[in-house]
Amino acid sequence: MRVYVRECRICGKTFEATQASSRYCSDECRREGNRISSRLRKQKAKMRIYPNRELLDMAKEASKRGLSYGEYVAKLSANRREATELE
Ligand SMILES: [Zn+2]
Repeated sequence: MRVYVRECRICGKTFEATQASSRYCSDECRREGNRISSRLRKQKAKMRIYPNRELLDMAKEASKRGLSYGEYVAKLSANRREATELE
């Protein structure tokens, strides 16, 4: 049986693995690794709520009005505040 010397992705310790795909030295580190990768997946899912298209449209709209994207967003949220105060 071939043994691979690997470096743990979590603690950096070198360990011997029987599979080339092993990335963690122990179950504890594997759990930590899984926790991190599922958190990253969640972050990516959250980013999908704001599609790039919408961002591009807003940036275009901003430059049409001679504003930077940041100024345009600030203006939009100021308008929204005024509208709710009027109600
Ligand atoms: Zn480890």
